[in-house]
Amino acid sequence: AAKRKRIGYSRYDSSENIYSKERLTLVGDLIDALENDQFELHYQPQVAAENGRICGAEALLRWQHKEHGYVPPDKIIEMAERLGIIHKLSLYVLRKAIAECRRWHQLGSDVSVSVNLSVRDLANEQLCAKIREYLNEFALDYRYLTVEITESVMMENLALSLGQLKKLNKLGINISIDDFGTGFSSLAYLKRLPVNELKIDKSFIMEIDEDENDQQIVSSTINLGHSLGLKVVAEGVETQQVMDMIKDFGCDQIQGYFISKPLPAKAFRQLLKNASRN
Ligand code: C2E
Ligand code: CA
Ligand code: CA
Ligand code: CA
Repeated sequence: AAKRKRIGYSRYDSSENIYSKERLTLVGDLIDALENDQFELHYQPQVAAENGRICGAEALLRWQHKEHGYVPPDKIIEMAERLGIIHKLSLYVLRKAIAECRRWHQLGSDVSVSVNLSVRDLANEQLCAKIREYLNEFALDYRYLTVEITESVMMENLALSLGQLKKLNKLGINISIDDFGTGFSSLAYLKRLPVNELKIDKSFIMEIDEDENDQQIVSSTINLGHSLGLKVVAEGVETQQVMDMIKDFGCDQIQGYFISKPLPAKAFRQLLKNASRN
């Protein structure tokens, strides 16, 4: 508890006072940060299991507050949702990530970028049009963009999700179900949703080498994904042992600290440059 005492960033801390002074400064500064482009995106590499090459990167929101220090992204998202500026924030992230991906391509790489969307984003009627606009602006092909949406979100708003996801998918944008295995999607739904990728939640991956249940779950999820023609990604791979096991199970892509932590844009570009030399 001591570690979290500073402002009570723990996600489900019910004692947290939403009207606390700190919270109010944060909220005001969040709006400023968005206006003044003060957020950063870090990029975590995703590698192909078959050859270890970087094939993608997940964009993760980072904000260093001048007084309070690092504010975790789920906290930022939650505040933005409450403030009613989540659409704006997500469009900001999308545009920034698309612009960055274009730079990778200018370096001769063909890595794609994955962006997380929140619940509310699927209700944004401008979402598709804006994504098209950004992809055109930076002359990036649709196939290099993946949007990640958590399983629970899709299931909660199935009707809405279905419409938006179909629109995105029609454009050629890839759709990934994030945190897969933590929600309750049935096979019937999975078949109906226009998805291209399953991202197995890190809670099943992190200790898989020590847990037979996790092994069963992950191996059958990979088979299920493949039988539906989907690409399967594992997140939260932290050790060689886990990496080897996941590869054996036939997972397509690997993401996790064992490969790399999320990196600032510049460091990720450097990684791409170094990789292209080998
Ligand atoms: P997520 O989408 O499930 O992202 C994966 C999280 O796992 C990231 O945490 C990442 O840093 C962390 N991670 C990656 N590899 C490992 C590993 O090997 N071990 C462990 N223990 N963790 C690993 P992060 O960056 O703190 O993000 C937390 C969540 O915040 C994300 O979970 C996502 O739901 C949300 N988020 C982050 N950026 C955005 C954004 O731009 N938009 C939206 N809507 N949500 C975002
Ligand atoms: Ca994600
Ligand atoms: Ca995830
Ligand atoms: Ca998550």
